Amino acid sequence: MLRISSELLSRLQVLADEDRGREVCGLLLGAGTVVADIRPAANVAARPETRFEIDPAVLIAAHRDARAGGLQVIGCYHSHPGGRAQPSAEDARLAAPDGQYWIILGADGVMAWQAVAQGDVHDRFIPVALASPDSVGQR
Ligand SMILES: [Zn+2]
Repeated sequence: MLRISSELLSRLQVLADEDRGREVCGLLLGAGTVVADIRPAANVAARPETRFEIDPAVLIAAHRDARAGGLQVIGCYHSHPGGRAQPSAEDARLAAPDGQYWIILGADGVMAWQAVAQGDVHDRFIPVALASPDSVGQR
């Protein structure tokens, strides 16, 4: 289970809706299974219409902040404009089996995934339920 407030989910949806010609992306910051903040990043992929690559400078800065006592980088988010909220084969190819959380915003909704060594989806991802931070023990 991944916990994220409806406010943060709404912000992600707005970011995705504002730029439907390309995949939007960014980082999930927090601790454990709780997303406490998001950090939007430029999509620096060569073909941002169908791929995403988080601006490395944003990633480096986030890890630096984490080492300085800030929120940890617990995952990333990106959108699939017009597509499903499922990881693509390309997503699986790019994902390290590091337990990081992936939120994908598709035309059919929002889903969360965790990157693991032997997942159900493309051998890399398992689905993770999304919950609000205060709903303990549900779902
Ligand atoms: Zn994708």
